[in-house]
Formats: sequence, structure tokens, C-alpha cells
Amino acid sequence: MPNTSLDPENWEGLRASAHDMLDAALDKMQAATEGPVWNPFPDNLKQSLKVDLPREGIGVARTQQAVQSLLPYGLGNTHPRFFGWVHGAGTPGGVVADIAAAAMNANLGGRDHGAIYVENQVIDWVRALFEFPAGASGLVVSGTSMATVVALKVARDVKLAFANQQAGQGVVELVGYTSVQTHNCVARAFDLLGLGTDALRLIGVGENFEMDIPALKAAIAADKSAGKTPFCIVGTAGSVNVGAIDDLDAIADIAGVEDIWFHIDGAFGASLMLSEEMRPRLNGITRADSLAFDFHKWWHVNYAVGFVLIRNGADHLRSFMMQAEYLAGQKRGLAAGGPWPTDYGPELSRGFRALKVWSVLMEHGADKLGASINHNCELAQKLGRKIAVEPQLELCAPVALNIVCFSYKSARVDINDEIVMELQTRGIAAPSSTIINGQTVIRMCIANHRTTQADIDVTLAEILRLGYELSN
Ligand SMILES: *Cc1c(COP(=O)(O)O)cnc(C)c1O
Repeated sequence: MPNTSLDPENWEGLRASAHDMLDAALDKMQAATEGPVWNPFPDNLKQSLKVDLPREGIGVARTQQAVQSLLPYGLGNTHPRFFGWVHGAGTPGGVVADIAAAAMNANLGGRDHGAIYVENQVIDWVRALFEFPAGASGLVVSGTSMATVVALKVARDVKLAFANQQAGQGVVELVGYTSVQTHNCVARAFDLLGLGTDALRLIGVGENFEMDIPALKAAIAADKSAGKTPFCIVGTAGSVNVGAIDDLDAIADIAGVEDIWFHIDGAFGASLMLSEEMRPRLNGITRADSLAFDFHKWWHVNYAVGFVLIRNGADHLRSFMMQAEYLAGQKRGLAAGGPWPTDYGPELSRGFRALKVWSVLMEHGADKLGASINHNCELAQKLGRKIAVEPQLELCAPVALNIVCFSYKSARVDINDEIVMELQTRGIAAPSSTIINGQTVIRMCIANHRTTQADIDVTLAEILRLGYELSN
């Protein structure tokens, strides 16, 4: 009889390389503040990955060696001078939690086992944090993009009284509203749900980059008189370009009067709920019908994990539950309990993402995460004030939270792009660029628990130096 088990013949050897790997992983985390922000992936490693499907394995020791050679070549978002896009920084505790999750190899589609209770606890914490009622439901997902699809599907099904689940959407012309500053995950959800992106009305913004509320009202009225059916308004709490927060209370009022679902994209901004000082900025968030946000951004839970929260758990269940014979519940044993997580989203098999969320919260507590978020916002405010008085620089948007958009004054039109690329390739810092009012600007998003004032100072000095060097 052949031995087909994939367990090692030599457990001691496996333990040795596993402990070695854990050390290498923690070394990487411990040294997160050192060295260049970004190391381009070297050609020899790219080449070494290009091999045919191995018919025979090389064993654990050599495999782990190959894995370790990848460790220095991350995206850079563990480094305190990574300021691009909106990325979380991860924690060493999260690394450990992922090991435990992999060891349990739990499938959280459903059934009665410990991991389900951990996810339920995370759901309870989120429900309480956002002051949603006891009947509200939630689901741990891969990120805000997936959370948005889940939430908007429930919104659509509710508006169509669930008839569409069998018969399809039919002739009703559903339309939704969001601002021009919204993340493109909303348009993608419209496409995925078969609504079409034309059905998403992009409302203009005012000087603060917040949704223009009178324009929203006008758009709804125009659609209604044209015979269309408004079904959702998507507000943003923390826009990706400048960190703006829409007037959530005003949107909630309109949604209430018009009987329209109110969804909030709070990918990183909803995290302000953790900060005593910043929480008032989210006024109105507790009135949403649904909320999407990420744990992997400002909560620093290691990638990839986000959350969707739905006020009406019964509607959420009705939108996703589809019983199959092989998934029927039982009174006792593994198949007892329910509804299960799979009844609240499109995935059946689901990993134990909830464990790292639970672990990070248990280890640090919500207040410490909140203090770190608050510190990021203070650093951004100070940076904004410095830029405003620096003759070579121009602040291009108000600093709402943790994002600072600015421009280097130069005769070179591509100067901001050039500065960003040089900072990245020299490994000094990693801001990104974006377009504000038609102009390409440097965008620094401070969303890292490791970032200090010194990191900001170095980056600003290098931007001024590079701007001069590249302009002259
Ligand atoms: C990052 C982000 C998203 C997308 O979230 P993912 O977790 O990457 O899917 C959506 N909206 C905003 C405002 C974001 O910052």
C-alpha cells in the first residue's frame, strides 16, 4: 500500500523549518521600521518562480527556504513611511493568529464548531460599536468590495420584494446614488448585480468633497418623475481621495423620507468609531441600513478581512439563504444550529478570518486602536498646516482626516508624478498620486500605527529636495 498521507515522515525536520519560518516572519515585523520602504522584486526571483508544475516535491526545508526568500519583497505597507492608497500595516499578533487559523483549518460556511462562535462574537462587537439593533446581522468578508456587493444585493432584493430572486429583475428600472468621489467598488457592485453602472447616479461634491445634498434631492426627484425606482443611496465615510465624510445625517433623513436603502462605504473611515475624539465626525452612521468596512485597513488586522453589517437581519437572511438537501440542519451534532454564515453571503466555504480580528482586539483593545487612528489624524493635520505655509507647496484639498493632498510648485507639469515615483524607487517613502480638480497631486495617507512625526518630517524634506532637483 502506498503511503498517501501528506504529513511529514520526519516531524522534527518540519518543526525545525517551521520555527525558523516563524522567526523569519517575526524578524520582518520587528524590523518593519528599517530599510527601504519598497524593494522591487528582483529579476532572478521572478525567473526562479517560472517553473513547470512540479511533479515531484522538493520537501519542506527547501520549500520554506524559497518562501523565506520572498519575505523582503512586500508591498511596503508594513513600513511607517508607506503613505500610498489606504493600506493597513498589520501586526505581529495577527501573524500568530493566522497560524492558529491554518492549524484548525476550519471551514466557516457553517456547522457547530468553535470558530463559528468566535465569528459571532466579532459580529456582536461590531453591532454594539455601531449601535445597531439586536436584529442586525453581519458577516466577515474579504474586504469592503465584497461587503458592498452583499449589502447592495440585499438593498435591491428588498426594493423588489424578493420576487427577483426567482423571476429576475424584470422591467423595474432601479437607480442608486453616490458621489463622484466614491470608490469604484460601488460601480463594480452595480455591474456585478446586473444593475449596470449607468443606474448609479454620480452626484457632485462641494468644496469639502462631500456629497452635494440639494443635488442628491434633485436627482432623486428627476428619476422618480421619469418613472425610475430609486433604491439606494451610498454615502461615504472617509473618501479614498481626500478622506471626506458625507453628511450622513442628511442622507439618512432623505433615505427615510424617500424609502430608499442607505448604505455607507466606511472602508477606513468607519474605524473612527474606535476613537473617542473622532467618533462625532461619523454622526449619522448608526442610522444606515448597511455598512461596509475593512478590518485590514485602520484596524491593522493582517490582510484580507472586512465586514458587512445589515440593520435588518431577516432581510439579509432572505436575500442569501438557499437551502440545499446536503446542507440541511440537524437537531444535534455538527449540523445543528443555524442559520449559518453561508446563509448571509455568496460564499459556502469560508476561512477563519474572524480569528485574527478577534485576536487583535483581545490583544490591544479597541481604545488602543482608536488612539493610533487619532494619532494618524493629528500627524496629517500638522502636515497640512506645514504644507499650507511652505512656499514651494500648495495644499490641494482640506485635510479632513488622515489624507493630505498637495502639489509641488514647478514649471514641470509632471513634477508630482516624478516626485512620487522617485520617492518609491529610491525606497525613501511611498506616497501615491491622485487627481484633484483635474490636477495630478501627491497624496499622503497616514494609516499606519508605526508612523511617527520623524517619518513625516523626513518625507516632507525629501519631497522638497526632490522637487528642487527635478525642476532644475
Ligand atoms: C479600500 C477601499 C475600498 C475597497 O476595499 P477593499 O477592502 O480593498 O475591497 C472601498 N472604499 C474605500 C473608501 C476604500 O478606501
